[in-house]
Amino acid sequence: MLLSLNVAVFLLIYLAVLVGIPVLIGVYVYRDASRRGMNAVLWTLVAVLAPAFVGLIIYLLVRGSYADLLCPACGAPVAQSYLSCPRCGARLKATCPGCSTPVEPDWRVCPHCGNPLPELGGDFTPPVRRQDKTLWKILLVVLLVPVLLVIFALLIFSLVPG
Ligand SMILES: [Zn+2]
Ligand SMILES: [Zn+2]
Repeated sequence: MLLSLNVAVFLLIYLAVLVGIPVLIGVYVYRDASRRGMNAVLWTLVAVLAPAFVGLIIYLLVRGSYADLLCPACGAPVAQSYLSCPRCGARLKATCPGCSTPVEPDWRVCPHCGNPLPELGGDFTPPVRRQDKTLWKILLVVLLVPVLLVIFALLIFSLVPG
């Protein structure tokens, strides 16, 4: 009687974890992908449905090419292509003085109009990369929960007489 009750409790917790971890990963991937302008629904399905976290690993590899950028002045989310922050108007990129095409700091000639570019000074502040702390928390949960579950199971079964 005691044994079957313990087993039932353990199975319930195990089931909760089995459902809880994919939900946690799904919510994380959905929010992360939509911030980066990726197909959030598709990536959430891939991350949750692929077995053994293969989907999450693929997502983490692919998302590298979609930068998660913030305005350095006000912290608003910005895209790689933005010239200015849509919230506070801070300049995020330099532009060609000839044709106003956005240019990278290390370019010497404008690829659009062929004008030589002057040394670009401090008239703009490039966006900053967002620090992703949520991912580490999720990985910690994913790693710690099974370990705790095993310890919990051993505890339960060691309490059972016989
Ligand atoms: Zn801003
Ligand atoms: Zn130009």
